[in-house]
Amino acid sequence: MKTQLADLFERKLSRETGTIRKDFGGRVSVALIYPNYYYLGMSNLGFLSIYQSINKRNDALCERGFLPDPGEETELVQTGSNYCTLESRTPISRFNIIGFSVSFEIDYLNVLKILRMAKIAPLAKDRYQFFPLLIMGGICASYNPEPLADVFDVIFPGDGFRSINLFIDKIINSNETGSKEDFINQFSELPGYYIPAQFEPVYEKNASLTQVKPAPTFRKSPEHEWISNLDDFPCMSELLTPDTEFGDMILIEISRGCPRNCSFCVISECYGKFRFRSVEAIINQIDRGLNFRKKFGLIGANIADHPKLQELIDAIHGKGGQIAFPSLRLDLLKPDILKRISEEMQITITLAPEAGSERLRQLINKPISQQQIENIIINLMHSRFRKIKLYFMIGLPTEEKQDIEDIISMVKRIKHNIASIHKRKPHSAPIVLSINCFVPKPFTPFQWAPMESVKKLKEKINFIKKSFKKELFVDVIHDVPKWALIQGLLARGDRKVLFLLQSVIDHGNDWNKGIAHTNVNTAFYTQRNRNHDEVFSWDHLMSEEMKQRLWRKYDPVYQQLEMK
Ligand code: SF4
Repeated sequence: MKTQLADLFERKLSRETGTIRKDFGGRVSVALIYPNYYYLGMSNLGFLSIYQSINKRNDALCERGFLPDPGEETELVQTGSNYCTLESRTPISRFNIIGFSVSFEIDYLNVLKILRMAKIAPLAKDRYQFFPLLIMGGICASYNPEPLADVFDVIFPGDGFRSINLFIDKIINSNETGSKEDFINQFSELPGYYIPAQFEPVYEKNASLTQVKPAPTFRKSPEHEWISNLDDFPCMSELLTPDTEFGDMILIEISRGCPRNCSFCVISECYGKFRFRSVEAIINQIDRGLNFRKKFGLIGANIADHPKLQELIDAIHGKGGQIAFPSLRLDLLKPDILKRISEEMQITITLAPEAGSERLRQLINKPISQQQIENIIINLMHSRFRKIKLYFMIGLPTEEKQDIEDIISMVKRIKHNIASIHKRKPHSAPIVLSINCFVPKPFTPFQWAPMESVKKLKEKINFIKKSFKKELFVDVIHDVPKWALIQGLLARGDRKVLFLLQSVIDHGNDWNKGIAHTNVNTAFYTQRNRNHDEVFSWDHLMSEEMKQRLWRKYDPVYQQLEMK
């Protein structure tokens, strides 16, 4: 690797605590790639935990790779260097395993960019040597990895912790004279593994998917594998750097999954059933972490439902630690804990009503009332909060103009309440109104629902922005509808979408040109109200029982959309 690039890597490493460097000799080597920038990857607890889990083994080593920062990418291109890992600056093609941890569909493109920089053939069928084996984990592997299915040798649906460790065990015990195909196929009947080459999509002439056909040797559908007892797998960031969003704290996962089943959200079905880490196990981790940081970020899709949250907060404070809640949504918290947190910390209040009207909140299965939302804010008026952040979605199924107007009137009422309690000084708690476009995700009741067009989403955003143009202290931030549509396409995509991704790269990462040069119809993937008989590209990853259960929840919404 050329010197300037080596310097850029060394600068990052020099600011880290907990970097692990091992000799390759005799060990199974894993290049673990986060397909986005270092700044983002180093706050991803799943990615960091897998790195730590592999490196705890004496017989394996794990090094990291990220999407090169713009300066690094320029250096790579100009010097003709190969894409390398951060720790030893070894080209990833020399590792036994290249594992991509993919948390966001929009990063699918980056997976292909990184393989191109590493000079590795993107299609599994074109890689003839046994190593490197390409695997995919992360939440995207659990709901619809199909756009990248032809890239990976093996995909890990589920937590991935057991899957990666057993995969390494099998490499250690493998007879290297056996074929790559035989090695991979031994995982096909185990939970936590999906072998894409064992399935083939079948299309009708109109491009509709009729089946994802299993290979003749197929015996068992892929199954997700979930860790039932979180205490068995510590999940704490032991590799620290100030060069990331949560760089001043140690992240600890305290719960996984969510029991709330909001109709648009993948968490309830894709993270396994809701479970939480014991207070004792968390405190053990805190004791170790106190050697490095005073502040602890408690992580979980829904930590508000941890049954011993109060006890945990008291225990951490008792040890002199501070607590942060990087993802806490206060609308889910019990009032006594809410009060306790607000008394002790200067926080941003984050509320996610998601929809403006009670009708629409009922429909998305988030039945928080207008009164509850206002009560939470009024109760916190006298505490030390600095900012209120409100999350709403637009483009939800059956949404009418009135639902958008209800978002606006709710926010105006909240602002009025702040002004009257804070003696007409609303600037004491400015409001950030975050508008997000609804994307119908696999493994949710809304997987059959259509997405709204970019044009309509833009109109709604402009209407909301205009309504607050003259309002001081209400800051409207929003998704870019075009990117939401691309997210929808990738989340719902099948194997044909890979051609589109390659076309985008071939056209200098220009999505418009990339889409125009393929026959992929984005509206076909994103904007149809599908009926009960729709075949999804992820059907073979989902049990029939789950699909029927999700349909029963969606059916009333489908009927309403059909009547419109
Ligand atoms: S949106 Fe939040 S509360 Fe609803 S299911 Fe997802 S994680 Fe749970």
